[in-house]
Order: sequence, then C-alpha cells, then structure tokens
Amino acid sequence: MYLKSLELSGFKSFAKKTELKFSTPITSIVGPNGSGKSNIAEAFRFVLGEQSIKSMRGKRTEDLIWNGGGDAARANRASVKVVFDNHPQPLLGKGGEGDGRILNVDFDEVSIERVIYRDSSSEYSINGTLVRLKDIIELLAGAHIGSSGHHIISQGEADKILNANSKERRDMLEDALGLKIYQYKREESERKLEKTEENMKLVESLRREIAPHLKFLKKQVEKVEKTFELKEELQKLSKEYFKREDTYLKEHKKNLEDERRKPLEELKRLEQELSKAKQVLEKSATHDAKSDEIIKLEANLSAVRTEKDTLVRELGRIEGAVLAEERILKREREIAMKEENRSVPLWDVESVASIIEGRITELEKSRDDGAVMAFFAFVRRTFSEFVARHKQSREIGSEKQSDEEMERLKDEREKTEGKLKLVNEREEALRKNYSVLQADINREKDSGREAERAVFRIMSEENTVRGVLSGLKSREEKLVLIEADFKRELHEVAMLLGRDVLGFDAIVVEENGVALNPHSIVNEERVKQEDRKRLIEKMKIRIEDAGAGGGEEALKEYQETSERDQFLERELIDLHKSADSLKSLIVELQEKLTSEFREGILKINTQFGQFFTLMFGGGFAKLEIIREVKKKKSRFDLESGERSNLDFTEGEMIAETSEDTEEISEGIEIEVSLPRKKIKGLMMLSGGERALTSIALLFAMSQVKPPPFVILDETDAALDEANSKKYGDMIESLSKLSQLILITHNRETMSRAGVLYGVTMGSGGVSKLLSIAFDEAVFVAK
Ligand code: ATP
Repeated sequence: MYLKSLELSGFKSFAKKTELKFSTPITSIVGPNGSGKSNIAEAFRFVLGEQSIKSMRGKRTEDLIWNGGGDAARANRASVKVVFDNHPQPLLGKGGEGDGRILNVDFDEVSIERVIYRDSSSEYSINGTLVRLKDIIELLAGAHIGSSGHHIISQGEADKILNANSKERRDMLEDALGLKIYQYKREESERKLEKTEENMKLVESLRREIAPHLKFLKKQVEKVEKTFELKEELQKLSKEYFKREDTYLKEHKKNLEDERRKPLEELKRLEQELSKAKQVLEKSATHDAKSDEIIKLEANLSAVRTEKDTLVRELGRIEGAVLAEERILKREREIAMKEENRSVPLWDVESVASIIEGRITELEKSRDDGAVMAFFAFVRRTFSEFVARHKQSREIGSEKQSDEEMERLKDEREKTEGKLKLVNEREEALRKNYSVLQADINREKDSGREAERAVFRIMSEENTVRGVLSGLKSREEKLVLIEADFKRELHEVAMLLGRDVLGFDAIVVEENGVALNPHSIVNEERVKQEDRKRLIEKMKIRIEDAGAGGGEEALKEYQETSERDQFLERELIDLHKSADSLKSLIVELQEKLTSEFREGILKINTQFGQFFTLMFGGGFAKLEIIREVKKKKSRFDLESGERSNLDFTEGEMIAETSEDTEEISEGIEIEVSLPRKKIKGLMMLSGGERALTSIALLFAMSQVKPPPFVILDETDAALDEANSKKYGDMIESLSKLSQLILITHNRETMSRAGVLYGVTMGSGGVSKLLSIAFDEAVFVAK
C-alpha cells in the first residue's frame, strides 16, 4: 500500500477540508450524480501536476477553486495533498531508483501538495518544502505515475487509450513502463546539449571576436618583447660602452695631469728665470750715472793732463832757460873773454819758437777765445823777455846776474817739478778711478747683454713649453667635449632604460672571456668605441620608434586577453566534452528507452493478449510499434526572403527542396481481432467492446509496471453484468499490484472494495464525504 491519503481543501465542490484515507487495496467512491466523485479523481490529477485545466473540466484555473455556495463563501485558494507511504519495499522497488522506495526520496512518508490561487499561480511542495513542478514530475515518473495520467481514467475516458493517436499512446505506454524518466533525462540532456551548443557558439563567437584583437596584441607584445630584448641588449652594450668611455676619460685625464706636471714645473722655473734675467737686464740699464761720472772723470783727467802739459812745457821752458842760462853763462864767460861777436844763440830762438809752437798747438785744441787772447799776451811777453834778456846780457852781461837767474830758474824748475809731481799723482788717481769705473761699466754692459740673451732664450723655451701645454690644453678640451658627450649619452640612455645603466662602473669589460685592464681599454682603437656609439644611437632610435611607453599596458592587456582566450578555449573544450558526454548520454538514454520500450511492449502484449482473451473469450489483441516519417518542408518566402520549416501533410503541394528534412518517430497501433467476428479495426468496436479492450490494455500495462495506484472513474459504466463480473475479477487481481480507487455506480465493482466512501452534496453545493458500508453504498450510489 503506497497511497495513504488525499486531502482536498477548497478544490472544486470540496469547499471544506476533506480527507480520504486509503487503507485497503481497493477503495470505492460512490454517490449520486453530481455529488463530486469525479472531482476527487481530478484532485489526484491536480496534485500530481496536471497542467491541462480542460482535462479537469475547467476553462481557467479559477474553475478549480471552490466558487462559493450556500453558507460557504468562495475560496481564494484550492489545495490538494496526497500522502504516500514511502517505506522501502524490496519486492516492489522495481520501478524506483532508490533503495526499494516507491518514490526516489529518502523519506518514509512523502506528501505532495499543490496549491493554486485565483491569480493562477501554483505552488508545489514535497513534505512541506516548496519545489518546482519539474521536481514533482520527475519524482512521480520514477513511480510510473507520470503526467500522461494513464493510471487515472476519468469518466467517459475508458477508451481514452484507444482514442488516442499512436504518438499519444506511445507516451502513455512509456509512462506506464516507467520510461518517462529516461525521456525526461533525455529531453533534459537535449536541452542541456542545446544550451551547451548555444554556449559553444557563444564562446566560439567570443573567441572569434577577440581573435583579431588578440592577434593585434600579440604583434604588439612581440614588438614590446623585441623592444625589451633591444633594451636589454642596449643596456649591456651601453654599460660596456660607458665603462670603456669612463675608463678612457679617466686614464686620459690622469695622463694629461702627468704630462702637464713637467711642463708646468718647467714653465714655473722658466718664469722665475725670466724674471731674474729681466731684473738683470733692468739693472744693466741703470749705467747712466756711471757714464756721467766717467765723463766727469774724463774732463778732470783732461784738465789734469792739460795742466800737466803746461807744467811739462813750463818745465821744458825752465829746462831750456836753465840750459840757455848755462850757455849764457858759458858765453858770457866766453864773451867776457871775447866781448865781441855777441849774438843771439840759435837754441834760444828755437826754445822760444818751440814754446810758442807748443802754445799754438794747445790753442788749436781748445779753440777758446780767452785762450787766444792769453796766447797773444804770452807771445808778446815771451818776445819782450827774449829781447830784454839778450839786450841785458849784452848790456849787463855780468856773471853775477846770470848766476842769480840760474838760481831763480833752478828754483822755478824745482817748484814746477813739484807741481808736476802733484799733477801726475792726481792724474794717476783719476786714471785709476776711470779704469775702475770703465771696467764696472763694461762689466755691466756684458751682464746686460747676457741677460738679454737669457731673456730671449727663456722666452723661446717658454714658448716651446707653452706650445706643449697648449697641445695638452687642446687635448684636455677634446676630453671635456668627450666627457660632455659621455654625460649626455649616459643621461639619455638612463632616461630610456632606467637608472640601472648608471651602475656601469660595476661591470667588468671582457674580451674573449678575459677581463680587460684600463690600459688595454684605453689602447683600443678609438674607431671601435665610435662604432659602439653609432650602434647605441641606432638602437636608441629603434627603441624610441617602437614607442618606449605603453609596453607594460600592451603586455597586461595581452596577458588578460590571452588568459580570457585560454579560459574560453578551456571552456570550449569543456563544453565540447560535456556536449560529447551529453550526446552519448542521449544516445544511451535513447537506446535504453528504445530497448526497454520494446521489451515493455512485448511484456504488455503478452498480458494484453491474455486479458483480451479473458474478456472476450477468445480473439487476440496486440500493440504494434510503427514508424512514422514526417517530412519537414523548407519553404522559401519570396517576399521576406526567409526560410521557414513547416510541418506538412501528404498531398500538400509544396515543392521539395534540398533543405527538406525528415523526422522519424515511433508510434503505437493497436491490433484487435474479436472472436467469432471479422472485426479488426478499433473503429468498428462497440462502446462496451472499446471499454473492455481499453481496460484489458490498461490492466496489462499495470501488470507489467504496476503504478502505486490506479483510479478508474466509472470505467465499468458500459459493462453488462457478465462483463462487470469479469471486470471485478480483473480488478481484484490488479489490486494485488496497485492500489485501486474506483468511482462507480456498479454494484459488482462496489462489492470488490475494502473501503467505501460515499460522496453527497448538500443544498450549498458542498461535497461531503462519509465512510459507509456496502449495503449503504448501494443505496448511496443511487
Ligand atoms: P456523476 O456521478 O454524475 O458523474 P459526480 O459525482 O462525478 O457526478 P462531479 O462531476 O464530481 O460529480 O461533480 C460535479 C459537481 O461539482 C457539480 O455539481 C459542480 O457544480 C460542482 N463543482 C464543480 N466545480 C466547482 C467549483 N469550482 N465550485 C463549486 N462547485 C463546483
């Protein structure tokens, strides 16, 4: 027993809460027409998720809600709750998936409730928890009580399965065979597949969308990476270049300092020398004072010499006079002896002539007017003295006079000689002074000339040294230019590559794996360093052309975009995988569905045949699977240019196109053959025969996969007494597998029930339920 109870509240004529308990295999519901029995069957449909209002005899949802009558006001909601015993039952757990429980949930009792409101909203709950309709349908599908409602045969629907088309029959049979769950799963998988394929398309289109951008970014990144490589290369090259350049500058500066030291010292020395030489030169230029002195000395000397000459001449005169006197004395003595022949001696005349000549010579030298006058006076006096002397000597001629004269002359001579001696001494002193002064002057003149030569020599040497220094200076200026270039280049590279390049000093310059010392660096041909410089310039331009900025951004964007692309790729792979697994699941489910369906049909056919034979006392009936091919035509609308798929039936005049598709579906046909009658088509059966056939089929279906309950609403209405008996027998055997709720007016049917519910309706239109005994039931049913 799976079905425990049904509770209606506000549903159709059941205005008040009404509960039916199903404690026996067969429960019969009896009552007069219009009392609300069928409403109970519909309450089952309703609670199990029926979506067709029409199948519950309504037009709108509202029609299912108590509409008011008598004292009872209309309800705003209708609710129906069905309660199942869900204890595990090993023998009967065939259809369910879970541990022998009829419903695949882990509860021993399961209540399913549906509530509707006047605004058409519906609520479903399982054990009080709100769920979706889908959950209800899936839960029930596992218990073979799916939405096709094959186990609920409403009034007048006894031959429902016979009236149905082959597709609907297939649905019912699938439901009865508990295969709907596979179908739901398949449909769900198909939906998922469709969704997956949509997602795949979406992802593919997203990937297609980002592909050009990604390609562009990739190129950008390649450029950026190339630039990074270039930068790295430039960094390395620059460091070597700067290290070399720095070493070159330092070494050359040092060399310059060294080279300059000596010339500078030399220059200093020369300057000192020059200044000394100049001093000497200046000193030599100060001999004027000495020259004046020497001129004075010369004048003094000349005067002394004149005086000396005068004295010499005086002395000569005196000497002459002495000699003359001596001769005079001698003559006088001779005259005295010979008084006669006295004449003027020649020597005396010559003496006078010589004195005068002497004076004339002097006069010629001095050219002094005063001297001329003195000369004339001198000549006059000399001649007068000469004449007088001779006259006297002739007149006096005495020896005594001559002696006196002689004495006087000698005295005069002595005096003159004394003077001459003094004059000589003075001359000598002056001459000595003159020589000393002259020597001084000469010496100074010599040293001046030397100094002059030295000045010229020093200046020329200075020039040479200055030449050397200016050579050094121009080298230094060159170095300054190189250094300025070096600083500028360093700054530029640092701006381009960052400060790291400033650490160039730390690197070791190598050649063929050997570290180079400063000496070898400096000795390298300069042209090589210039080549490096050119290369660096070129690389700088390339880096600048590539655009120094934005690299990071492009990298980041590329990273993000390619991550997104990779994510999408993975997503696509996942989607492909899940599409593949869904496809194989669909195939698997379809295969299972097909194989189980075929197996089920075979089993149902066996039962169907037996029930049919039992019912009709012979003949045969069977289900047949048929394949229906449905063509879908593609119609091209000339106006809109759109193509649409249309279902069409045979005979319709639509041109087939290459885009036409075929849809193959399987359906179920029923083949019957009544005993003793040549009737073979369902259409030719009588109402009772149809009812019997469909009951036979329903029972056969319930036999193969018994649903937990079957509701039959006056399915027996068309049966005659004999068939009612057979019907009753079949019900009993069926009740061993499924609980039966039978709405009936049939006495025979009623007699098979364990519990009988009577439904009555009062003047207010409210259905009421009462549990009654069989006899009562017969009465109530009327
Ligand atoms: P029969 O034996 O003739 O088949 P029945 O016992 O099966 O009759 P039902 O068809 O179940 O009777 O009940 C029909 C009754 O339910 C009608 O009288 C109808 O007025 C009443 N009914 C249907 N819907 C509503 C509703 N929404 N509100 C009130 N009453 C309703």
